[in-house]
Amino acid sequence: MTVGGCIQSPVPPLGGTASEQLGRLENQFADTRELYFQIYVTDARGVAGNLRGVSLADMRRAHRALRERVAEGLEGLDTARLGGEDGHAVRTMRRLLDESAWVEEERSPSSEPVAESCQYSPSALATGDSALQRLSARIYACYGAEARRVVTPTDTSDRLTVLGRLGTEPSAEQRRALFLSLQPLWRSVTGDGSPASPYRTMLALSAERWRREGSPIAAAARSLRIDPAQVEPMLVRILEAWRDHTPPARVEPWDWYYDNGAASRTLSPRINRAALREVNDRFYRDQGADPETLGIHFDLDPREGKTPVAFTQFGKPARLRRGKYGEREAWVFATYRVGGFDNLVELLHETGHAIHVSAVATRPAFADWPDSDPFTEALADLLEMEAFEPEWQQRYLGGSAPVAASLRGKYASIALDVAWALLELRVHADPSRDPNAEWAAITSEYLHIVPHPEWGWWAMRGQLVDSPGYMMNYALGAMITAQLRARVREQRGPFWRPDKKMYDWLSNRLYRFGLSRPTREVLRDFLGESLGVEALVGDMRRLGEGR
Ligand SMILES: [Zn+2]
Repeated sequence: MTVGGCIQSPVPPLGGTASEQLGRLENQFADTRELYFQIYVTDARGVAGNLRGVSLADMRRAHRALRERVAEGLEGLDTARLGGEDGHAVRTMRRLLDESAWVEEERSPSSEPVAESCQYSPSALATGDSALQRLSARIYACYGAEARRVVTPTDTSDRLTVLGRLGTEPSAEQRRALFLSLQPLWRSVTGDGSPASPYRTMLALSAERWRREGSPIAAAARSLRIDPAQVEPMLVRILEAWRDHTPPARVEPWDWYYDNGAASRTLSPRINRAALREVNDRFYRDQGADPETLGIHFDLDPREGKTPVAFTQFGKPARLRRGKYGEREAWVFATYRVGGFDNLVELLHETGHAIHVSAVATRPAFADWPDSDPFTEALADLLEMEAFEPEWQQRYLGGSAPVAASLRGKYASIALDVAWALLELRVHADPSRDPNAEWAAITSEYLHIVPHPEWGWWAMRGQLVDSPGYMMNYALGAMITAQLRARVREQRGPFWRPDKKMYDWLSNRLYRFGLSRPTREVLRDFLGESLGVEALVGDMRRLGEGR
């Protein structure tokens, strides 16, 4: 990083061909992106400067200066004289520059949203321009406040912690009490459940927008070459696989988490806090992706004010120098006070993102995350999912859980995500439907959960309010993951077996493209067939193994 040099380097001289001018601008764009990612991860680390000692304030200033200069240069470029890929590169750079200006502003020290009243009239808020946006922002703010502060019978906790405890609390009575302590959270979204309640008021507006502009679900499907009309039948097939291959006895919702947490309870005592990194790094090393040599950094310790959400980001995309892609950097953020299987799986997932971005090797305009969120998530799950295989557990943890228990641990959260996606699809198709009743019907029919239409317990995913239709990405991601894993197994064998060439093999076929190729083409070439539910449903059949 040469921040000072960037600021002082002269404006590229006019002249040269359009493609020579583009080359110079793209180099400066690469400097800008590097600054963007360095600001992003430095801010996330909660420190004042990056690893090279450059302060956040200096990087923010340098980013603004460079971004404005590159944007101006791109504006002046004679794009009519550029070829197809170069034209695409220019459009992509413009968009990324537009979307990155926010890193130049210092965030307010408190990230808490301004306290607004959570006693409000949804219909009064939902009028005029941007009614949907205003109402969903209010519901989300009130939901967030409840999620951060859940009062249980024994303490004050938060949503994620309470859901985690449902998987380990041995007393059914205690689990019921824990589950019901989430009621204020649900009510921040569902209100009294009437058509005038917050979510149902929002739903009418959201459904209207989907009708007018097309739904995000249809757009996500098309971007993966799936016929939007096939989405609902696909979701139903996944849910039927869960229904048909898990025990038929109905369970209460507070017992669902415990029943599906058996593998985690068996394996967790084998994984202390230090083992998280040891196992994680050993597994990826065995696949030829040593986090250390790849320049992957981990920020895993608890810290005041740190986000509870785990995520990964580029620190520095690789750049082509003298014919080779050189030094790169990626950052993994998560918070672990203890070890345990669930934390290990999350760390494996984030490291999966990190080895993916470390392999991105393309021109600066395209050195970014791919164009599809489900694909990106599937790449992170690709190796991580091996942790649910007994052979993997034996090799890396020295003991294993039964296949059926492991598979339920693997698919319980996916089954719930698919149920949420189906709920959104159905209530958007007919916004007069009562989501509580719809949720009770879906979860009792497919997940063997006792129906409780009196509670809106579906309302505990922020995405349902913040980004209607987003849950579908998890369903599509699970389909892609299963199909990719089946393909890799066919071509190279299972991931639990060490294979030092695996990383290069995956990089060449899946990881390296960034934005240089559309995801649907990368998938088509790798899979050699179209995307479908068969691989996922096939793997889910193993849920019934040993029963
Ligand atoms: Zn992820």
